[in-house]
Amino acid sequence: MFERLAIIGIGLIGSSIARAARQHGLAKQIAIADASEQHREQARALKLGDEVHTDAAEAAKDADLVMLCIPLGAFAAVAAHIAPVLKPGAIVSDVGSCKQSVIRDTQPHLPAGVHLVPGHPVAGTEHSGPKAGFAELFNNRWCILTPPPGTDAAAIEKVKAFWTAFGSKVELMEPRHHDLVLAITSHVPHLIAYNIVGTADDLETVTESEVIKYSAGGFRDFTRIAASDPTMWRDVFLNNKEAVLEMLGRFTEDLIALQRAIRWGEGDTLFNLFTRTRAIRRAIIDAGQETAAPDFGRTPAAAKGDAQD
Ligand code: NAP
Repeated sequence: MFERLAIIGIGLIGSSIARAARQHGLAKQIAIADASEQHREQARALKLGDEVHTDAAEAAKDADLVMLCIPLGAFAAVAAHIAPVLKPGAIVSDVGSCKQSVIRDTQPHLPAGVHLVPGHPVAGTEHSGPKAGFAELFNNRWCILTPPPGTDAAAIEKVKAFWTAFGSKVELMEPRHHDLVLAITSHVPHLIAYNIVGTADDLETVTESEVIKYSAGGFRDFTRIAASDPTMWRDVFLNNKEAVLEMLGRFTEDLIALQRAIRWGEGDTLFNLFTRTRAIRRAIIDAGQETAAPDFGRTPAAAKGDAQD
């Protein structure tokens, strides 16, 4: 599909793309760049690509497809740095969790004749780095593409075909809408998990050993999400501020309503909500986006492929 694929950032997502591209024979040559010496070493040892560079421009040079798999806060500097070496007709795509900020930080730097096709695979785990990736990560998961108006149709089709080859289901979305949808399905849930685990950690009347010992009561499932990469998630909240604040406002109102229902003993209110939410979980399982296995299938093997964000 591509002569030369450049992957900038060989962490969980970048290394999963490298593995899947290799497995499905999508690129003749895979060039990797990463800022971390340790991750470059691991990428070489795992033979994730044909070339491993410190300088992103070395990898991006002559590439037909450049995949930016770096934290959102790094996009502007990397785009400015690689722009002069991009060949005419090259496609620049990415996997960033917010799409308006990617377009804002990348598009102004790209020369005419280079196509920007932003993307977001809605798949991941709480682990980071090249060792955490695996080729099947994107299988049966959604990948959302958010091309700005006027993007070359052939470039969009190529990126679509790339993700489809990994077993992903591809959908096109307007960037602002993407950021709103992901705020409620991913960003706010992560914030809630970070917050509840932080609150438990701050408690003085319940000991840390009790929190850990009795965690199977529900807390444990929040800790998995709250173990996600701090750099990535800091950047998500800094770059999707408007949509997250909008969803948090609604969430807070609904939480206050629940608080009131508990205070006034309004059992029907609680029961009706819990019945409605149970149906959502059933719909997620029916859609093949989760497992119905006991304990949410959170055995080490099953957890590997957890859809996260
Ligand atoms: P990761 O495992 O931490 O990998 C990111 C890699 O990029 C690291 O090796 C990092 O090195 C490197 N890096 C950082 N700044 C760089 C720069 N300026 N130039 C070159 N390399 C740089 O992160 P990830 O989970 O793969 O996430 C990557 C992107 O995917 C993020 O934009 C995230 O929003 C998106 N995403 C993540 C998930 C998920 O569940 N994890 C799902 C979908 C999309 P250092 O470690 O030294 O910083």
